[in-house]
Amino acid sequence: MDSSQNKVRVRFAPSPTGWLHIGGLRTALYNYLFARNLGGTFILRIEDTDQKRYVEGAESDIIQSLRWSGLDFDEGPGKEGDCGPYRQSERSELYAKYARKLIDDGHAYYAFDTTQEIEEMRERLQKSGNPSPKYDAITRMSMKNSITLPAEEVEKRLESGQEYVVRLKVPRRETIRFEDMVRGHVRFESQGLDDQVLLKSDGLPTYHLANVVDDHEMGISHVIRGEEWLSSAPKHILLYQYLGWEPPTMAHLPLIMSPAGGKLSKRKAEEQGIMVNVKDYMENGFEPGALINFLAFLGWNPGDDREILSLEQLCAEFAIDRVGKAGAVFNMNKLMWYNEQYMRQRSVASLLPDFKRELDKASISCEDDAYLEQILPLMLDRVSKVSELVEHGSYFFKAPAEYDEKSLKKAWKEQTPQLVEAYQEKINQLPDSGFEAVALKQQLEEVVNEAGTGFGKLMLPLRVAITGMGFGPDLFQTMQLLGKKESQERIERALKEIQPG
Ligand code: GLU
Repeated sequence: MDSSQNKVRVRFAPSPTGWLHIGGLRTALYNYLFARNLGGTFILRIEDTDQKRYVEGAESDIIQSLRWSGLDFDEGPGKEGDCGPYRQSERSELYAKYARKLIDDGHAYYAFDTTQEIEEMRERLQKSGNPSPKYDAITRMSMKNSITLPAEEVEKRLESGQEYVVRLKVPRRETIRFEDMVRGHVRFESQGLDDQVLLKSDGLPTYHLANVVDDHEMGISHVIRGEEWLSSAPKHILLYQYLGWEPPTMAHLPLIMSPAGGKLSKRKAEEQGIMVNVKDYMENGFEPGALINFLAFLGWNPGDDREILSLEQLCAEFAIDRVGKAGAVFNMNKLMWYNEQYMRQRSVASLLPDFKRELDKASISCEDDAYLEQILPLMLDRVSKVSELVEHGSYFFKAPAEYDEKSLKKAWKEQTPQLVEAYQEKINQLPDSGFEAVALKQQLEEVVNEAGTGFGKLMLPLRVAITGMGFGPDLFQTMQLLGKKESQERIERALKEIQPG
């Protein structure tokens, strides 16, 4: 073995069959952290051999999502290293070569059975009491393949171009064992496995063959992937054995679970208001650092009570032996908490372009950057994502179209108009340049003191008049930002339109 073969090389190997899923991003992240922690190489390999499930645009979504998240790969499509190409569809010859080798060595065989013949075999066996019939060591003996047919017949079929697949010859009774970095000692009985198709009738490999060949050819030292692939691992171990290769060390990551229990499927996620595609987080103005920090903690923790760790810190701290076996529950509130923390760490200057983009999306035009820069610090500790700046702060740009009913009920009482009018009179007297938060607050205090009532009795109605809502940032600063004329108009209108509740 030369020294390069001792190096840590890991890969994220998604199939471009749809938008990158948050579970996929967590797998990419753990691979990335593992590589960075150990000074290894992180590779992106696109597993696109299943043409039926190929989705246009999925590969670029994967690459964009990784870039947005800060997980830059060292080798992959568009970043050629020594082991390219990094798209399996461009490596077909390699798989065919190894499929032939497996056949020549007696570990794989040609199978000519039609779908219908396989179906008939299944039905026959089901009728005779086998609940899950497979193409395996026993049934293969009654099927049409290069084990049962005479050699000349096989030759003839191949030469005449008859369709065939190549299947792995799984031994009848064998215990397949391996050490998994997360799950410890794993064992499977070969009886439970079928004679996996390795090469399909279109000449393209299945996931299993391509995955093993590429992991070997690309010098992958550790395979870190989701638990859903654990049941494929014994087939892979057999392939490594038959091809005479050392298998990489494996780590199967715990499932991501729905808060309602069970695996977080698309349907369950929707029911819980959880977005499953990374794209949705990108488009909805989430903080990439927050999503990454949150995902890192779905199955791993640093072993103390720290919760906020930057990508750089995660790289330094990550250890696969701290990854648990138990499923990790996706808690949307926790993610929102992370997002809030990350957002608050950002400067006004860095938030400004994002704020403008969200305004654009909501068709609100505001060319005054200085105005926006004043709104940001006011709103920042009241929102947990950028889009909420607009959702919760639209009154900075337009007078409320309606008043929140619940707040009105609570705020607008018999004596309210009188109090508001008294306040109105006071602020009318303020010069434009003196329309400032301190003065505005002082005057409110004067009005309530003179009326012998509490602060809230005027504060809440005023807030509803100005913003349409019962909660929000400092009201006096809000009024100062809106300016005298706009504030006066809103108060005037409220007095006209609102009836005491
Ligand atoms: N192509 C597989 C996927 O879509 C890769 C699984 C593996 O990492 O082996 O997840």
